[in-house]
Amino acid sequence: MSIIVDDLVYVYHQGTPLETEALKGVSMEANPGEWVSVVGHTGSGKSTLAQHLNALLVPTKGKVEVDGILVGDDTREHRKIRQRVGLIFQYPEQQLFEETVFAEVAFGPRNWGVSEEEIPVRVREALQAVGLDESFWERNPFQLSGGEKRRVAIASILSIRPRYLVLDEPTAGLDSKGRDELCSLLRQLKVSGTGIIHVTHDLELALEYSDKILVLESGKALFWGSPEVIVEELIEREIEGLVVPPVVELARRLRDVGFDVPVTWKAQTLA
Ligand code: ADP
Repeated sequence: MSIIVDDLVYVYHQGTPLETEALKGVSMEANPGEWVSVVGHTGSGKSTLAQHLNALLVPTKGKVEVDGILVGDDTREHRKIRQRVGLIFQYPEQQLFEETVFAEVAFGPRNWGVSEEEIPVRVREALQAVGLDESFWERNPFQLSGGEKRRVAIASILSIRPRYLVLDEPTAGLDSKGRDELCSLLRQLKVSGTGIIHVTHDLELALEYSDKILVLESGKALFWGSPEVIVEELIEREIEGLVVPPVVELARRLRDVGFDVPVTWKAQTLA
């Protein structure tokens, strides 16, 4: 069981003057219980890739497969994929629309035909996973704090029990405390077996939490590997638009004055 992306090419508005090749042969893999970050500058293709993972976009060329189900022309298969892969857009709280937190979180499972008896079980489980107890059930989502709204929005996806969660810049607009809280919540989900696919321009965050990182540049995969390998590569070269963490700056300076920076040291510094 895994998400496999193999040599994915995606062209917007093919055959028109607006034709844009957003992905130019990208490969990656994500497994349940693993945190994969997709990192890159604005316009590098992160969102385009994310949308393939739950079949909102279909490859122009190459392959995207979720637990053996192909993202292709058969839309009946796409329904199965969307049950497995929850996609959380940037500022998900803007998509809240129900009058109570309960109804908001119940919406997904109801839509997927989960029985009414089972609904409260799903709602409790999903809200607990984001650290919100039963006292929130009857509250109006619009009257919650920014961080709470975002948690409710994430719970409304978790209630369909996806095996993978794709999050597009989930920490956008949060302060550093909110960011840390959200990331440790995602880490807990990962530990309990959910695959996290985290789209971000924040390399430092990716280095801290990920098992694997894909770095995109202009629709191409520049790196794919563990944080340690990425750091090693970054010491050697710059990537346009990516702000490197202080540890990389330090290692670059050490290298420039003739030191050989051991990989183990870098890994420890990151931990
Ligand atoms: P990122 O998420 O890294 O900012 P995107 O996947 O949004 O990158 O965009 C990749 C490329 O595809 C960019 O050149 C962008 O302008 C183009 N693009 C994205 N969405 C569309 C669209 N709906 N129509 C045409 N071009 C698009």
